[in-house]
This record gives sequence, structure tokens and C-alpha cells, in this order.
Amino acid sequence: MITKEEKILQTYFGYETFRPGQQETIDNILQTKNTLAVMPTGGGKSLCYQIPGLSLDGTAIIISPLISLMKDQVDALNSLGIPSTFINSSLSTAEQHERLRNLENRRYKFVYVAPERFDSASFVNAVKRIPLSLVAFDEAHCISQWGHDFRPSYRSIVPNLKQLSNIPVFMALTATATEEVISDIQSLLHIEKDCVINTGFERENLSFHIVKGKDKAIYIRSFLQEHKEESGIIYTATRKQADALYEQLTRREIAAAKYHAGLTEDERKHSQAAFIQDEKTVMIATNAFGMGIDKSNVRYVIHYAMPMTIESYYQEAGRAGRDGEPSDCILLFSPQDVQLQKFLIEQSQMDDEAKRAEYRKLQAMINYCHTHSCLTTFILDYFNDTAHTETCKRCSNCMNRQERSDITEEAQMILSCVKRMGERFGVGMTAKVLKGSNDKKINQFGLNKITTYGILSAYTEKELTEWIHFLVAEKFLDTEEGKFPTLKLNQESIDILKGRKKVWIYTAPIPTNGETDYHAELFQILRALRKKMADEKKVPPYVLFSDATLKELSRYFPD
Ligand code: ADP
Ligand code: MG
Ligand code: ZN
Repeated sequence: MITKEEKILQTYFGYETFRPGQQETIDNILQTKNTLAVMPTGGGKSLCYQIPGLSLDGTAIIISPLISLMKDQVDALNSLGIPSTFINSSLSTAEQHERLRNLENRRYKFVYVAPERFDSASFVNAVKRIPLSLVAFDEAHCISQWGHDFRPSYRSIVPNLKQLSNIPVFMALTATATEEVISDIQSLLHIEKDCVINTGFERENLSFHIVKGKDKAIYIRSFLQEHKEESGIIYTATRKQADALYEQLTRREIAAAKYHAGLTEDERKHSQAAFIQDEKTVMIATNAFGMGIDKSNVRYVIHYAMPMTIESYYQEAGRAGRDGEPSDCILLFSPQDVQLQKFLIEQSQMDDEAKRAEYRKLQAMINYCHTHSCLTTFILDYFNDTAHTETCKRCSNCMNRQERSDITEEAQMILSCVKRMGERFGVGMTAKVLKGSNDKKINQFGLNKITTYGILSAYTEKELTEWIHFLVAEKFLDTEEGKFPTLKLNQESIDILKGRKKVWIYTAPIPTNGETDYHAELFQILRALRKKMADEKKVPPYVLFSDATLKELSRYFPD
């Protein structure tokens, strides 16, 4: 026998079965238990309030910080014959009054509003007077100061809402599942532990990739060459980057649109529509674009630069593949990205504690870019999602697991160098000391006198930097958060130093995508060759290629 709710699912929405978590969430709401639904982007959170809203008597109030998405949702409901509306600042005053009157006359099953609407006494009074089915907080992570889009105005309406006696049940929906956010929402809305429906996070159709050491613009051009027909988003870190990339691509007659907060509302509307209706295949945007946009056939999301946190990365990347088809999420990493994010944190108005929290999140993001473990697993672990398999077999790290080399000895040298430096310095200084650089600061601190000075001079500073980042990413070494994170040994470090644990790195096969970008590959081959020859013949690598040679080469072969 099918339930009343399944019947609604089939007759109104035309879907056969519920997705994970939907049925449970809906059941809870029907039993008037306050509920938090944590589901990945595209997981189907809207139906979790739409179905009980239809099933119950009265009007459902949906609070969402995203004015841009209300219209689409409301249009969709109305087209299914479900009387719905939104009331927000995009409407004329007359129109707002009209809709308020309809609300009072109990005409709507669903009313979408932004949190600010509750500052309006006439709206609150109307809400007080009518029978309600439920109140839903969509994008509920914005309520929490731990969420990545914290909106104080969103949080501040909660106590007032709890005063209203005619709200039978509250629900909260989000794709952010960090423990802090979950427990914050729980305590704010009085949600019992067993009313947190967390479906897990894995999006099995998404493949994550990290691309390093390539010219980003060239990479994107050759990628777009191969994905001409497909729809995708390229996120840049700044408006300036977005403008420049847009300029470059449209000059090459690529059908691109752009979106950022520096454009007029009209321009933004226009380019969003062009992208959604597939007139333009590529959307170049800052993170101002995308929250709540329901475009199902996005085949790739490329990050032109590393975002600040895994939360925002996963949310933005997650806009790919909402239709469940295989899609790619590619992060183009360069060390400068880290500098930019640090700059943004420093510039912000946050107090020191909040800044430290941001640095902690940033460090996790940096680790993501340097780990050799499965990227999917890395993300899911970050969200404390344990319901997943060991490795995804589709991310770039899983794909690159062809060859591995033992770098235990090098790791030991790095770790003992950290120790000899008194655990008081960061990645950059440590790499310089290992390299034996002639640096003013090094001499100042007397670091040129310690026994590990120059101990890995056979490698480039860049390689050493990469290895240290790798050790941090794999938690073989700790960092203390802050603008200049200092390296600290941990238990794993000790185990490695004592020879109780080995350190392996995975080396990628030389990729062959696109003929335009072979320089970097050639350089990689030379470097690998250098290492291999050194390993086998047991001669120091610099005998084979001097640093000067490598430096000269790297001018021609941008890395
Ligand atoms: P979220 O808000 O969680 O990101 P949405 O509610 O926008 O996701 O839903 C994403 C897509 O999945 C929509 O196109 C929606 O119609 C579809 N969807 C939701 N539930 C189901 C279901 N049970 N079966 C099939 N498709 C569904
Ligand atoms: Mg949603
Ligand atoms: Zn993987």
C-alpha cells in the first residue's frame, strides 16, 4: 500500500520513490516533531517541506535567504496547481499589500519570504492570524555563526518566531553538516537528536580533481575545447579574475556568461537566464552565483582558484550533476590562492577568535589540495560522514595511484629539521633551511648553523614546499593556525622519525589531455628522470641536472 505522501509524490511531482531521508523527514513533520534535514545539494530538500505542506491544512511559511530562487520555486508550484507566492522586496508596495491580503484570506499553501520580512509588523500580524502547517528554514546553515554564510538577521528572527503560538512545527534544511552547525541549529530550534536526519554526503556521480602546476588559462581553454557542448560553471576568487577570464574566453568565441556582485541586477538576471536556458554554455562567476539555482545539467564546475573553506567548495562544486549524471569538479590550485585567502581573512572585520576559526578551515582546504588520499573520502571525513567506502576510485588522487615512491628518508629529514628549528617556523622557512638557501632571515635566526641546514639541497625549494604541505595534509605534521602557521611535530611525526612508519607518495602518470600544455608535462618528465637516475645510480641528483639548469628549464617550462 502506498502512503498518502507517496501518492502526493507521484501525482503532484511525478516521482516514483522517495530519495534517502525524504520519507523520514516528512514523517517527522507530520508528527509535529521539529526536524533538521541535512542532505547534499540536489538531494531533494524542497520536497521535504512541500509534501507535508500539501498534506497538512494551513499555510506553510518557507524562509529562505535567497530571494533569487523564490520566484522559480513559486512558479514551479503554481504550475503544478499549488497556490503559492513569495513576498519580498523585489515587489512593488502595492503588490506586497495584495499578497499580504491573500495570505490573510488563506489563499496560499506556500509562502516564501526572506528573514527580513519578519521585521514587518503587518506581515507578522498576518502570520499570527492564520492557520499554519509548518515553518521551514531553508539554507539553515545561514542561521549559524559557524555556517559559511552566516546572516545575523536570519538568526535574530528565531526567538520571535518561537513566541508565535500558531506554529505547529519547525523544520530546518541545509547541505552543511559540520557538527558545530548541526548542534547550533538543534539548540536554536529545539530539535531532538533523533530528529536530525542526516543522509550522508556522498554524491556518487561527482568526480573530484585537483590540478596543479599548470597554466590555468591554458588548462581551461583546452578543457573547454573538449567540452564544447556541455554546460559548466567556472568559479573565480575575485570579480577581477571573472572579468579577465570572461574577456579571454569570449574573445575566443566561447559562449560564456558572467555573474558577480559588481554587475547590475539586470545584467545578472540576464546572464543567469542565458545560462539556465543553455544559450550560454559556460558561466564565469564569483561565489555570488549559484546559491539555490536549480540547473540540473551542469556537467562540470571548475574552481579557477582555491576557495576559503571545504564547506563552500563542496557547496559550489556540488552544483554540478544535480541530475545524477557523471560530472566533474576540478580545482585549479596555485600557491598564490592561499595568499589571497589569507589576505581576505586579514581584511575582514572578524575578531581574533573568529579569524582563528577561519584559518583552521582554510588549513583544511589547503590540506585538501595537497593530500594524496582519496579526495572524496577527504571531504566526507571533513563533514564527519562515516557512511562511505574507503576510496572512491574516481577522483584524481584515486586515478593517479599507479606508482608510489617511498620518501620516508626525506620525510625524516624534514621532520628533524622542523624539530631543530624549534617548531617555531612555517612551511616557507623550513623549505628554505632544508634547501640551504642563503636568506637574510635564516642567517638572522642562526638557522644556517643547524645540522639540517641544506640537508635536502638536491631538491628544489618548490619540491620541498610541496612535500611539507603533503606531510601536513596527511597529518604527519601539525600546524598551528594563524596567518603564519608554525609547524609542530605530532605522534605520527615521532613514529616516522623512529622508523616505525613509512611515508609514501603517489606519483601521477603523465597526463595527456590537450596538446597545448605539454611544457609542464615535459618539465615533470625531466624532474622524474632526475629523481630516478639519482635513485638508481646513487649519485646526488644535482650532478645530473644542476639547480641552475632546472631553473633555466623552468623559465621555459612554467610549473
Ligand atoms: P536541494 O534543495 O536539496 O538542493 P532540490 O529540492 O532543489 O534539492 O531538488 C533537486 C532536484 O531533485 C529537483 O529537480 C527535484 O525535483 C528532484 N527531486 C527531489 N526529490 C526527488 C525524488 N524523490 N525523485 C526524483 N527527483 C527528485
Ligand atoms: Mg534547496
Ligand atoms: Zn577517490
